[in-house]
Amino acid sequence: MTAPRRPFSRVVEAIPPSGIRKFFDLAQTMQGVISLGVGEPDFPTPWSAREAAIHALEHGATTYTSNSGLLELREAITDDLADRYGVRYRAEDECLITSGVSEGLDLALRALLNPGDEVIVPEPCYVAYQPCVAFAGGVPVPVALDPDDAYRLDPAIIGAAITENTKAILFGSPSNPTGSAQSAADLEALAALAREHDLWLLSDEIYDRLTYHGVHTPMAVSAPERTVLLGGFSKSYAMTGWRVGHVCAPEPLARLMVRIHQYTMLCAPHMSQVAALEAMRTAQEDVEEMVADYDRRRRLFSKGLDELGLTCPVPGGAFYVFPSIRSTGMTSAQFAEGLLTQEKVAVVPGDVFGPSGEGHVRCSYATALPQLEQALERIARFIGS
Ligand code: PLP
Repeated sequence: MTAPRRPFSRVVEAIPPSGIRKFFDLAQTMQGVISLGVGEPDFPTPWSAREAAIHALEHGATTYTSNSGLLELREAITDDLADRYGVRYRAEDECLITSGVSEGLDLALRALLNPGDEVIVPEPCYVAYQPCVAFAGGVPVPVALDPDDAYRLDPAIIGAAITENTKAILFGSPSNPTGSAQSAADLEALAALAREHDLWLLSDEIYDRLTYHGVHTPMAVSAPERTVLLGGFSKSYAMTGWRVGHVCAPEPLARLMVRIHQYTMLCAPHMSQVAALEAMRTAQEDVEEMVADYDRRRRLFSKGLDELGLTCPVPGGAFYVFPSIRSTGMTSAQFAEGLLTQEKVAVVPGDVFGPSGEGHVRCSYATALPQLEQALERIARFIGS
């Protein structure tokens, strides 16, 4: 029997598989690898959240919730955004619980874009941004940020890419892969640019609690009327497998996102929403302990790389460093491949995140300190330092 010979979706076929996955799969076939490759917390989900989910399952939280998600969870999220940042969304119709930030991003793009609409995607950036724009019928317009300017969202660089078809700018702060956290002044300037050209700002703030130089600055402080705030539980609360996130946006857009969600996902997993609510209520100390630990690793690892001549600005957020490997004369793919096969340390080549990531590699420090120390020794041996 043969499958139908009709063509598959051209849009989907044109998107290459994720470069991270390729490396991860290779590393998994090898013994004794220290993986700095995955963007996933190495802590367990706080026990109070797991216990709440167990209890919820025992008491029947196995059904759909409302399409928008449990109202109590939406209220906890919108109250928290108001308390921490002074940003006010209505829980009833401006906040939607999604299956991770991934779904929130997909919904926002599908609700916003018409075929041919352009979305500016400053890079290096999270690998899903450009494919998701394309899946939604839009045209991703990558814009290279300057590594020598700490990958700042420089409004001059972004402004130069705006055309009459530009609909939105999509970015993350703190950033995956660079760990850079954008300043309030740059976000203010970006808001002014968006107002001038009537653009939406899709702001991925999944790492908002993982900041090390003071409190995170959300985009919505500067432009609430045109910001789509994407947030979630995967990273801050070590809940990647639970699949819970949220998207907050002005009501007309939020309503359209709910419309897609009610026909596609229906709701985020019920028991996971209960766990997320409990995490928000009772796991703040766990989060603080995780952040303190990441902070120690971040300082040790970026200093260690710097001392090896792999220039590494100390990142302001997330759990990634993005050192320059230019001093080795290798491309980022050669470096990552050589390091994995010769010294069994998995990192991700920077060009996977966009051409301006070339000359860098992404290392995740969501790995215990002794392993990071050992990784530094292996990297030193690899580059002959
Ligand atoms: N956004 C960024 C910047 C990420 O790094 C990731 C995961 O690595 C995601 C979104 C996906 O998040 P979620 O697990 O909430 O779907």
